[in-house]
Amino acid sequence: MSFNPADNIQDLQYFGEFGGVNPSISDSSTYTFLSAKTMFDTFEGNADGCYLYSRHSSPSNLYLDKALASMEGTEAACVAASGMGAITSTLLQLCASGDEIVSSRTIYGGTYAFLKNFAPKLGIRTTFCDFTKAEVVEKAITANTKLLYCETVSNPLLEVIDIAAMAEIAKRHNLKLVVDNTFSPLSIAPAKMGADIVIHSLTKYINGSSDTVAGVTCASREFVNDLKNVNTGAAMLLGPTMDSLRSASVMKNMRTLHIRMKQHSHNALYLAQQFEKIGLKTVYPGLRSHPGHELFQRMMNAEYGFGGMLTIDVGSLDKANELMELMQQRNLGYLAVSLGFYKTLFSAPGSSTSSEIPVEEQAEMGLTDGLIRFSIGLDNDIERTFLNMKSCMEDVGVLLTTRA
Ligand SMILES: *Cc1c(COP(=O)(O)O)cnc(C)c1O
Repeated sequence: MSFNPADNIQDLQYFGEFGGVNPSISDSSTYTFLSAKTMFDTFEGNADGCYLYSRHSSPSNLYLDKALASMEGTEAACVAASGMGAITSTLLQLCASGDEIVSSRTIYGGTYAFLKNFAPKLGIRTTFCDFTKAEVVEKAITANTKLLYCETVSNPLLEVIDIAAMAEIAKRHNLKLVVDNTFSPLSIAPAKMGADIVIHSLTKYINGSSDTVAGVTCASREFVNDLKNVNTGAAMLLGPTMDSLRSASVMKNMRTLHIRMKQHSHNALYLAQQFEKIGLKTVYPGLRSHPGHELFQRMMNAEYGFGGMLTIDVGSLDKANELMELMQQRNLGYLAVSLGFYKTLFSAPGSSTSSEIPVEEQAEMGLTDGLIRFSIGLDNDIERTFLNMKSCMEDVGVLLTTRA
């Protein structure tokens, strides 16, 4: 494959103001002008390389924008103070009162809550459906539909969506395809398969150190300009602006993303295979038993693997809680939401990250009580980790239950 996102990141050469190997951090909210005329032109967006005010843009944020755009293979990008800041400003830029969204039903809980509870206050309605079935998606489209929304690999059930098929439907109906690629950076490049807009919560893998929340919208130059427009831009007017100090630190972490993704994927694949072998109900796109395995394989940049997320089902919420508490006690990871950390994180999505989704709907989409979501860490000796996890499972009786 000729498109390699990690090479694109590596090839970015930034010099600091004083020749530093890291670009200087722009520690200012406002910028001076030697002439009043240039200030006017900058405000109008006509003075390249000039900065006015840091909610509009800042050198540090533009560096990170550029790195993320080259990673996703889009013309431009716009960083935001959180993943939700990127998602909501993108959707509000595209939709007005009376418009409709067709969304995958298995999406991040916050996005689901926004579409279900908040957007209707602005007259924007959403139909949720099963995005693994193209005909179901196509049937949900009406004359008012503006966009299709999905996650490449969905949270928390790890459904894999056929991005090229969705892009084809979107084109045919003159819709935008918006894809949240948070779970599969580097592995999958949705824009290369026809997605119009690719969003990330940088909070997860891309930053990778669980020390900040951040987000990005990667899109055409035209759409990013729309987002930043001083009169009509959602990113400009709603103000989810990333701080320059943070964008500089995300940028530095991004330099090691490819190494981390390979290790996350290696460890997760090993654990998923072992978990399946000992009889646990395991969901991981790298397993042949996963319904989206071949599709993922067809779409992926193989060297980065199937990602670091997997789920197991241990039968009940009580068992799930007992197991997670014991694994934390034995230092195998943290009982915490979020993902992409160097250490393994685990949580029960039904009662945490997907709790915005009503219980009946959780059941319908296969989100069971006993589900544990793992974000597998960068453990050096994953065999040792597996043996320790297995003994936790034996001690809480999970393995016996699943064998019976
Ligand atoms: C975490 C997450 C978000 C929200 O991002 P924040 O940075 O927490 O605002 C959106 N989508 C997915 C898939 C996520 O995992």
